[in-house]
Amino acid sequence: MNEKDDLLTQIKYLEEQAKPLDSTEEERSLLLNAVNNYTEDFLKSLPSQKTYEVAGYEKQKGDAFFEIDDESSGIDCLLSFITKRVDKPGLNPPSGGHFAYIPAGGLYASALADFIAAVSNRYAGVFFASPGAVRTENALIRWAGRLVGYTGDFGGNLTSGGSLANMIAVAAARDTRNIKARDVEISVIYTCSQAHHSLIKALKVTGLGECIVRMIDTDEHYRMDMRHLKKQIDEDKRAGLKPFLLFGNAGSTDTGAIDPLEEMATISSTYGLWFHVDAAYGGFFLLLEEGRKKMKGIHLADSVILDPHKGLFIPYGSGIVLVKNVRHLLAANSYDAHYMQDAQGADYEYSPTDLSPEMSKHFRGLRMWIPLKLYGTKPFVSSLEEKLLLTRYFYEEVRKLGFHTGPYPDLSVVVFWYVPAQGDANAYNKGIMESIKQDGRVFISTTTIDGQFVLRFVALSFRTHIEQVDILLQILRDHRKQNS
Ligand SMILES: *Cc1c(COP(=O)(O)O)cnc(C)c1O
Repeated sequence: MNEKDDLLTQIKYLEEQAKPLDSTEEERSLLLNAVNNYTEDFLKSLPSQKTYEVAGYEKQKGDAFFEIDDESSGIDCLLSFITKRVDKPGLNPPSGGHFAYIPAGGLYASALADFIAAVSNRYAGVFFASPGAVRTENALIRWAGRLVGYTGDFGGNLTSGGSLANMIAVAAARDTRNIKARDVEISVIYTCSQAHHSLIKALKVTGLGECIVRMIDTDEHYRMDMRHLKKQIDEDKRAGLKPFLLFGNAGSTDTGAIDPLEEMATISSTYGLWFHVDAAYGGFFLLLEEGRKKMKGIHLADSVILDPHKGLFIPYGSGIVLVKNVRHLLAANSYDAHYMQDAQGADYEYSPTDLSPEMSKHFRGLRMWIPLKLYGTKPFVSSLEEKLLLTRYFYEEVRKLGFHTGPYPDLSVVVFWYVPAQGDANAYNKGIMESIKQDGRVFISTTTIDGQFVLRFVALSFRTHIEQVDILLQILRDHRKQNS
């Protein structure tokens, strides 16, 4: 055999060996059928599944199967392993009984959209590569921008979540305000105890970790105190420091508090601060008249983030960053690489890669676009409104049970706690949390506010209805009876 034949024989052999990767129609049909059976079993059993399954931390027999090796396995074997060892232990986010942290969604239509996006694998990073995919994503950015109240040359990016969205906004703020390494130690950032920790993380990863961070006081509604803010900025200016960035909350994670956004915008423009609003949790309540009233002034922010995987019920992996002036986002992210010299079409639409640190990326727009086009926005509006009413219902009912509560809920978060006639209140409330965990049908979380251990209820899942709230109230009622 000559050298060329030898090479061709090897190539053919490898082609044969790699065949499983390129499935046939029959194989695809078997796989899809198995997956459909699995997802149907999952969804049909969801109402009776626990919202929180205690334990599962210890290694179990058979856990070696998590590890990757050279063996191949059948799809049924994989799905049954996932059912037992992935779906079971821990929190069950798509459950309607999920009242903890920020509840998640998981629209089925989004899952199918992900499937489509993964099969067609459109290159959504650059306009010329997939004008259709980029148009889909930019249409979502325009919709979200209008929702916030932006007009004119705003821009944005679909991110993997709120943390990355905050990071992109902070990087744009840094570059627009021209904060160089030498300025970091004298640059000042204003926030409050209600801010999400991802903002502090965003400062760290954007090289701003050594800026001065001022924790401004909050009022009895956990909203930032404007007098303290102004006083602090004045003091900082007098001390020769460089006030530069103000973080506001439009629905804080802990308590759902909405800061006085309009006043914060005025202060920001007076002092030349970049005003960033974190609406990761609260943002989609802007779909409601009530939300728009409560978040009045949000359109004045230089940047805003929202999390579709929270208030729009999309599965995890969807955040949005919006920047009032798209040029600021472009300046912080675009780069001319010579291997991209064939890229065209910049005059028609912005490319996501020029507005974020990502380049090759998941075509994540489709998971939002398909449900919004399929259902229209009305069912989303109704579900969010239902959540506000369920929250009010819970607030009233839990008080009737003798619990103390935080302020009347701005959105769909209630913090509550019981003060027993004798004994330690923190221990008593930890006991309640333990009862809820042991029961497992519903799940809440806890937080610490002003040094006090409190219980925390959030309604945000499209599967959460009055039944689940009543189950929680019943558990609380039973606990009170057994421990009075
Ligand atoms: C959830 C949340 C974040 C972080 O978003 P991820 O999507 O979890 O990365 C930031 N801010 C607020 C207010 C949030 O609720």
